[in-house]
Amino acid sequence: MPELPEVETTMSALQPFVEKKIVSVDIKNRNLRWKIEKDFENNISNKKIISITRRAKYIIFNMLDGFIILHLGMSGNIRIQDLKSNIYKKHDHIIFYLKDKKIIYNDIRRFGSIHFTHDLKDHFLIKNLGPEPLSKDFNKKYLFDISRKSKTNIKNFIMNQKVVVGVGNIYASEALFHAGINPNRTTNSISEDDCKRLVKSIKNILKVAIKMGGTTLKDFYSVDGSEGYFKIKLKVYGRENKKCRSCKGVISKIVLNQRSTFYCDNCQK
Ligand code: ZN
Repeated sequence: MPELPEVETTMSALQPFVEKKIVSVDIKNRNLRWKIEKDFENNISNKKIISITRRAKYIIFNMLDGFIILHLGMSGNIRIQDLKSNIYKKHDHIIFYLKDKKIIYNDIRRFGSIHFTHDLKDHFLIKNLGPEPLSKDFNKKYLFDISRKSKTNIKNFIMNQKVVVGVGNIYASEALFHAGINPNRTTNSISEDDCKRLVKSIKNILKVAIKMGGTTLKDFYSVDGSEGYFKIKLKVYGRENKKCRSCKGVISKIVLNQRSTFYCDNCQK
């Protein structure tokens, strides 16, 4: 599944299209996670792209009088091709035509989505999102304050998009290891000092992952959703029964909220 770093990489790959006009759009299949609205083509055709940004795992095309909100879902990816090329693949659902290029959205499982809106902040996909993990709004004080009333486990808590966006399953396990916090801990039991280490760990792992995603970009230009993980040295994720990289302990695997969770009982209290 494309995680925040892959989405960031995709967003970067699209930057050459800023200031360019979407001449037209061809939708081959409207049945994504949500059905693409009837007036989508009309709303964006012949409109200039002012900027392309990211919010959580959404890619936002800021148009002259509205916004395109694109989510890659489980298996979505974007290809950029010359206008003249005739290479199409199965599951190419949306084709944006620009002056000399095509932007193609491909999605095998169709859990991705695309919307147009005039009001980004109030859009149902955007309005309830927590702060960006790399922003100043995500800090020790914020995490401590918001965690006081929660009785869920800390791993589930940091994966909640209303708390902070973009902390996927792999990054949650890794960040908790680096912070020395057991994923089973009840959220309201974590101290201010725990919050400080956890915020720092989340920011660090995502920064490294984004940097790695950027390396992938240079090789392929368009983005493969799974590439980045293999370049990051994971400390606990996927290392069940293997020796901890920090102590003589062994990595455990448990299932928390239906998600595989890895940790070192010795290093994480
Ligand atoms: Zn350990």
